Amino acid sequence: MSETHPFPDLPTGTWPAFPEGMVWLLGAGPGDPGLLTLHGLNALRQADAIVYDALVDERILEWRKPGARVEYAGKRGGKPSPKQRSISLRLIELAQSGHRVLRLKGGDPFVFGRGGEEAQTLVQAGVPIRVTPGITAGIGGLAYAGIPATHRDVNQAVTFLTGHDQSGLAPSAINWEALAQSSPVIVMYMAIKHLAQITAKLIAAGRDPSEPVAVVSNATLPDMSVLETTLGSAATAIAANGIEPPAVICIGRTVLLRQTLDWAAQLQGEPPRSLDPLGLNDTAESA
Ligand code: SAH
Repeated sequence: MSETHPFPDLPTGTWPAFPEGMVWLLGAGPGDPGLLTLHGLNALRQADAIVYDALVDERILEWRKPGARVEYAGKRGGKPSPKQRSISLRLIELAQSGHRVLRLKGGDPFVFGRGGEEAQTLVQAGVPIRVTPGITAGIGGLAYAGIPATHRDVNQAVTFLTGHDQSGLAPSAINWEALAQSSPVIVMYMAIKHLAQITAKLIAAGRDPSEPVAVVSNATLPDMSVLETTLGSAATAIAANGIEPPAVICIGRTVLLRQTLDWAAQLQGEPPRSLDPLGLNDTAESA
């Protein structure tokens, strides 16, 4: 059964076994099915039971083994999501009844996705796990918008921030002054709801209200949209444009690079808006 991996032409031993009773925690990437890893495809092809979250693109499930059972564990139709504890218990139950269990999560399972908590519970229950990372929305989603997470001329650090903490309020454990001073680029997940508060804190901590911001929603998907705005206007611009989650929000001058690097628009025939969006060659010799 474990010989069913999808890449017979690659050396045996490349592909880990998926024994019965294991839970394989897999990052599905931000949406575009092509961003699934080869380890991910291998796991999907072997899984007996797949438990997946909201934000996992359902096209990916089409690669499952015929007959595999599929369970949805996310929020749908405005109903609250199942409690984390009950998801973990369900994974344990499926594994202990002999299934190869694939726990499929959006993006990367260990980035703002509670994958760490689930994995801890599984290990505590004695269930063997394997973890395969996925492309996280805060990097891969920005790349689809033509925004590099880092660029030598802009930032030597990037900070990933969640827009709310466990209580559902704006994150409370952030030192906003330290963040504002130390991280030229800030990438925020789940930040639409509390964005007005967050941007006000950053501006109060010294960030320039005219700093560029991009809001990338449904990143990597056919209905992806990118809103370019500024720190001072971002919250009102999101409301005015009716932008809905899921969205990643990038604050910082790497956003300007989109004027050159919006490759998706260029593939549609649009010319780059600028070849020097950081203004580096205005005064320097360009030869
Ligand atoms: N583990 C995931 C993040 C889960 S938290 C990862 O690594 O990407 C959910 C948040 O991720 C969303 O609120 C949004 O901020 C971001 N996100 C996930 N998929 C996205 C997508 N396709 N486009 C934009 N943002 C996305």
